[in-house]
Amino acid sequence: MSYILVTGGAGFIGSHVVKELLRQGYQPVVYDNLQTGHRKAIGDAPFVKGDLADREKLKETLQSYPIQAVIHFAADCLVGESVENPVKYFKNNVRKGIHLIEIMEEVGINKIVFSSSAAVYGEPHEIPITEEHPCLPTNPYGETKWIFERVLQTLFKTGKMNSISLRYFNAAGADPEGELGEDHRPETHLIPMVFRAALNNSSVPILGTDYDTPDGTCIRDYIHVSDLSHAHLLALKKLEEGRFAGAYNLGNGNGYSVKEVIKVVSRVTGKRIGVIESARRPGDPSRLVASSAKIKRELGWAQKYPGLGTIIDTAWQWFCKHPEGYHD
Ligand code: UDP
Repeated sequence: MSYILVTGGAGFIGSHVVKELLRQGYQPVVYDNLQTGHRKAIGDAPFVKGDLADREKLKETLQSYPIQAVIHFAADCLVGESVENPVKYFKNNVRKGIHLIEIMEEVGINKIVFSSSAAVYGEPHEIPITEEHPCLPTNPYGETKWIFERVLQTLFKTGKMNSISLRYFNAAGADPEGELGEDHRPETHLIPMVFRAALNNSSVPILGTDYDTPDGTCIRDYIHVSDLSHAHLLALKKLEEGRFAGAYNLGNGNGYSVKEVIKVVSRVTGKRIGVIESARRPGDPSRLVASSAKIKRELGWAQKYPGLGTIIDTAWQWFCKHPEGYHD
């Protein structure tokens, strides 16, 4: 059995990947400081509560299990917060990522799947965005992801590390079996924010109505978290084949504006949703829509849940059963 260290495995995407690893016969070992993750989201998988800054604990963990590869999620991931506090992002996403790489080198592990982001691209010149698009991030969060990707590229060129960076567009939805879902505290992501407004009869802020898009609101490409999870397994298998480094987009190729998302949530939930037209959130590009042709062609990835209605429905099912989240 292959042991895989999953940093940040108790988070939203991480926990779905842990479930998929188990389903496919891998043994995930979760390393998470539980600052934003949830212990309940990883069931019985071996778990170490630790921060990537704690080199000794990290090294001990990597030596206690026969780890063959790392899937690295542990990071801060809020665009708005990164604009307000960029140093936090450089510390947690870059410096601690380097700690991880250092320890991996020390113990002889040379395969890593890295959780990157569409935020590496910045304001796109063309839609859909391919991997050849220039990377010019418009916010510190995207900058940290791009820096770390470049570290990995350089380490590949020098023969030290094999890696696949997965550039997620907007991760959404929830485990269709209803065991896992999205529980961020504080919540800032659009779809759960709209759910909250729907349940509480309150209003959701629309962060910017003056973008250069047909209805003036930002356009994003929402991808089901289970489809994302599946891509991590394909990436892992690619790295098991031998020397490799690459980056892949992961999205559905369909852009939805904030107003369109709110409409679909209203249809799926059967609830009327109030909105408050608000100011832009600094750092937000106007539209991000992926071309995922490369990962389809090279790794054979395919979506199981491409429709926004299904994505929202799976998330809503979990949200209704867990209005207070994981309760941990
Ligand atoms: N957004 C919004 N209201 C909210 C939260 C988000 O209008 O309460 C917008 C946000 O400006 C962005 C889109 O919804 O254009 C998706 O934001 P989210 O935070 O979900 O993901 P991100 O694109 O930052 O990864």
